[in-house]
Amino acid sequence: MRLYEYEAKQIFGKFGMRIPQQIAIVENIEQLDDFSISFPIMIKAMVLIGGRGKAGGIKKAKNIDETKTIISEMLKLSIHGYSIEKILLEEAVNISSEIYLSVTTDPATFDIVIVASASGGVDIEEVARQNPEKIWKKIILENVKELPGIIADEAVEFLVKSDSNLMGSENQLKTTIQSLYSAFQTVEAKICEINPLIVSEDKNIIAADAKVVLDDNSLYRQEPLLKSIGIDPRSKRHDISEQTIFEDKAYRIGFPYLDLLDEPEKFEKEKDKLYVGLVPGGAGYGIFSIDEVVNVGNRYFNGKVVPINFMDSGGGPSLSKVADMFHLLMDHPATDLIITSRFGGISSCDIFIRGLIMSLRDRYTKRKRMIPIFGRMVGTDLAAAREYFEKAKRETPEPLKDLHIVVGNKKIMADVIKDGIEYGFKIKSQDGIKR
Ligand code: GDP
Ligand code: MN
Repeated sequence: MRLYEYEAKQIFGKFGMRIPQQIAIVENIEQLDDFSISFPIMIKAMVLIGGRGKAGGIKKAKNIDETKTIISEMLKLSIHGYSIEKILLEEAVNISSEIYLSVTTDPATFDIVIVASASGGVDIEEVARQNPEKIWKKIILENVKELPGIIADEAVEFLVKSDSNLMGSENQLKTTIQSLYSAFQTVEAKICEINPLIVSEDKNIIAADAKVVLDDNSLYRQEPLLKSIGIDPRSKRHDISEQTIFEDKAYRIGFPYLDLLDEPEKFEKEKDKLYVGLVPGGAGYGIFSIDEVVNVGNRYFNGKVVPINFMDSGGGPSLSKVADMFHLLMDHPATDLIITSRFGGISSCDIFIRGLIMSLRDRYTKRKRMIPIFGRMVGTDLAAAREYFEKAKRETPEPLKDLHIVVGNKKIMADVIKDGIEYGFKIKSQDGIKR
């Protein structure tokens, strides 16, 4: 969950960091009458995305007329596709230096990473590319709750060396770094970032911008925090920019789903590879089948097989949820083949096969894209499932002609996966021109 700048700043304020005084959050110019304002002020568009400065979402105003004009114009803007509903008015601070500071986790190792640079205020990725020596980075291997002073000192030393204007602000810088780290740990954030952290003309260190992304998995523990900054903990506000459209869709329907491809909406498929979507029974099997698809692909198909997603139906999914899981992958532009499996447990094979067949019949009548499906089902309600499956194949053979489900333990999944991939490549070569 990504927070708005004014919310993130309130959190930073609670942890002892200095923030500009917030005057108001407004949605229109009429609301300005309720506040007495001392100018100059910053007018900032509240959208859940960065780069607002360049897009016209950050302006300074010297008086009330200017404020009204800027707000009216700003409300018409859209910043990277986000419309602006709320605008923050806050004290403008005189800047003499801009610093970049963040605490985040490495997505691959989950280690905590602190990044600092005296070249703040600009796109930090750009600085990292052009002038990597201007960036200080520290990996915190032990998940300590408080940042040791010596590490903060190291960062301060680097910053002061890069920008002599920071001399004299060492202590404030040090406490800011430690506070940001504490905030990151305490609110269980994925990232806490200040860009720019400014040094004012009177040598104060102030967070002029703030980005906090909370970990959705720990939100339930953060209810008091959310309430304290005015967020309804049940509202589950999400930054849609963080999720792919498929992840967002699955989230709304109510099952865990992850895209393994970057930006799957505009993903360019490699022609000689087969992209496999996975509808497993549970999470563990979901993880296993990702590995197994890669394994079978490496062994028999020159590594040309790519699993595209993780998903988990959860225990005892409803008929419509099962259907939605298949719809999601058949709507996914990357999918060439779907591998599925049921291992009973608390989920019913009967519901599974009915949901699956429902999705195929539905797509067939609506002339939507159909994808070959290979899988196996064993376990709970298998007899009923088998009976339904046989009957369905007799009644509507057409929509089910590319549905290949092994009923019972006649084959191990590795062989089912291999059969599916072989078939997928065969189909792909047949209608290679169409795809
Ligand atoms: P972003 O572009 O979405 O990251 O928005 P920021 O909040 O970082 O604002 C962009 C730029 O506006 C900053 O890098 C600063 O240069 C400037 N800015 C933001 N707040 C203030 C302020 O209080 N005073 C002054 N003078 N400039 C500010
Ligand atoms: Mn910024």
